[in-house]
Amino acid sequence: MTDLALLVRSVTEQMAQIEDRGAVATYIPPLAEIDPLRFGLCIVTADGAVHTAGDCDEPFSIQSVSKVFALTQALGKIGEALWLRVGREPSGTAFNSIVQLEREQGIPRNPFVNAGALVVADVNLAGHEPRVAIGELLRFVRHMADDETIAIDEAVARAEQETGFRNVALANYMKAFGNLKHPPERTLGVYFHQCAIAMSCRQLAMAGRYLMHGGRIEPGGPRLISPQRARRINALMLTCGHYDASGDFAFRVGLPGKSGVGGAILAIAPGKAAIAVWSPGLNENGNSQLGTLALERIAEATGWSVFGAD
Ligand code: GLN
Repeated sequence: MTDLALLVRSVTEQMAQIEDRGAVATYIPPLAEIDPLRFGLCIVTADGAVHTAGDCDEPFSIQSVSKVFALTQALGKIGEALWLRVGREPSGTAFNSIVQLEREQGIPRNPFVNAGALVVADVNLAGHEPRVAIGELLRFVRHMADDETIAIDEAVARAEQETGFRNVALANYMKAFGNLKHPPERTLGVYFHQCAIAMSCRQLAMAGRYLMHGGRIEPGGPRLISPQRARRINALMLTCGHYDASGDFAFRVGLPGKSGVGGAILAIAPGKAAIAVWSPGLNENGNSQLGTLALERIAEATGWSVFGAD
């Protein structure tokens, strides 16, 4: 049995030695200003033990990791009907790419590219004011993390809104195909705010427990989603969670994972652990460079993989 307390500390120390940390996102000042030396790690295991190291209690912008929670919420609302409006295939393109949308009639490849997440936000908005829809998502995340302090960073949300021209383009383009039901600016409002949810590694790993436990926050606890749905969300994280680097992440880490341009990755070892890592420097695909490396080392040391046992 790997000593996880030791492992999280040793991986964090190893990462501190690495100079090439990738580049922090610069499209909005609140992300551009983050110190690339920050690093946090948290592993929550199936028995509820929590192992942390580094800046594990420092909140950061979860960005696209929010797409996992928003997808869970949308599936809860409309179930399988979601798949009439969003695909389930890896895109092989960047997270904010527009090229496939024209060829594929405004149906995004998957719920984790921005276009797909905008459709998911549009589903979550149905019957609500944008403020209420985002409040609902926030409550859901707080519940799953068992932490009422999780909040939206309004400065990030404003900055997303002011600079999100590509997202505005994606939303308008899908609206032209009839794949957004609401005025694009309302759907975008929900999306920009979900990207601006601020969480620490500890909170993120706790929020990911339902994907480790087949839809329950804790073993024996109430069911949040069905085991089949939890498996399927994990499948999408594995195949699409790192955009055009999803194959490489599966190869190196072997676990479902979702990244965000804030430098976070949430990874799930089904039945074993929920892991959150944060290192703000990104690789050329917009995924945390050291976050990926740290997860690779953790997977190697523990033998956790969805592709086979040690
Ligand atoms: N806010 C970012 C965007 O919409 C989120 C992208 C990401 O985290 N990959 O462009």
